[in-house]
Amino acid sequence: MKSQDYIAREDKYGAHNYHPLPVVLDKGEGVFVWDVEGKRYFDFLSAYSAVNQGHCNPKIVDAMIAQTKKLTLTSRAFYNSVLGEYEEFVTKFFGYDKVLPMNSGAEGDETALKICRKWAYEKKGIAENQAKIIVCENNFHGRTITIVSMSTDPDSYAGFGPFTPGFVKIPYNDIPALKKALEDPNVAGFLVEPIQGEAGVYVPDDGYLKTAYDLCKAKNVLFIADEVQTGIGRTGKLLACDHEGVRPDILILGKALSGGLYPVSAVLADNDIMMVIKPGEHGSTFGGNPVAAKVAIAALSVIRDEKLAENSERLGKIFREKLKQVKSPRIELVRGKGLLNAVVIKAMGGKTAWDVCLALKENGLLAKPTHGHIIRFAPPLVITEAQLNEAIDIIIKTIQEFD
Ligand code: PLP
Repeated sequence: MKSQDYIAREDKYGAHNYHPLPVVLDKGEGVFVWDVEGKRYFDFLSAYSAVNQGHCNPKIVDAMIAQTKKLTLTSRAFYNSVLGEYEEFVTKFFGYDKVLPMNSGAEGDETALKICRKWAYEKKGIAENQAKIIVCENNFHGRTITIVSMSTDPDSYAGFGPFTPGFVKIPYNDIPALKKALEDPNVAGFLVEPIQGEAGVYVPDDGYLKTAYDLCKAKNVLFIADEVQTGIGRTGKLLACDHEGVRPDILILGKALSGGLYPVSAVLADNDIMMVIKPGEHGSTFGGNPVAAKVAIAALSVIRDEKLAENSERLGKIFREKLKQVKSPRIELVRGKGLLNAVVIKAMGGKTAWDVCLALKENGLLAKPTHGHIIRFAPPLVITEAQLNEAIDIIIKTIQEFD
């Protein structure tokens, strides 16, 4: 079968809920993926930052294989011999009292919202069903009904109503708007992405997170960080909140928590918040299963042992410096932190960011446009400086082909 045959089969039998680039991948290793014709590409999407540790990272693969041969799933109806090891590991790794394990990022967000509402009624004393959570315009937290109820992007929410109430939407990176919204005594939480990834890698002003955190504290409101995309080394620190010394009250992780092997997400909080959830009130058949537990321990160990956050910080600076120097009428803006970067492309002569991504593919590098005119560049964090320079040459050459 050729690429076209694979694409036709997916088109015929799969729901059309994605619009992929026309490339059919068959193999991955480190920063590279290969298509079914054997052509090699730099992967500059990293499965939306799930593959921070590189494709098929051998340490994570080995941990997964070993556990799958022993015990895969018991459900939480029983204890298992691995979950506690993971819970101790992950809570010490991030510095929280407790973890609640889930699977997808969206489930992590849903879990955080439930914890926040329960805390509002049991601890803050908000009247039943009155709790509100502040969210930001242009957010992306996933695809469930409640999560799209928080969205301001019609592609996400239109046609899926009725929506879940209880959310207050304010502009991102807008401290006066947050201050005003926090005046409502029924506000229980502020849910924020430290950098808005899906919106197009919007980096807020320096000091935004710290000021927002302090304002929340002053009003006894939980600061909830969705670090599903920004966490685990992606932005040059273990967490993007670390850039401002902010420790979220509730931390949501996903994606790279498994290095891309398996859906693993987690919500972390201290006892006074997490213990509002009692047996039977929340859970998931697969959440905290032994394979996920071993995979997550290995995935986090790789980040720490291979100093991938440090690599991300150092190479991210090189990436932005080099791209900012390029003189091309196509490049409107380069922004990002660590190895989470975006180039804003000027549409000219009927050619858009999508066309640039098609040309990048031809030249051996995979990236995906977001919101029409923005290309996100987020390679696995195991990339070396030599590999990064080779990839930057491809990006520059490709963009200049459009001049
Ligand atoms: N939160 C953020 C910040 C994300 O970027 C994403 C996915 O891109 C999600 C949540 C949802 O994660 P998942 O697709 O695993 O449900």
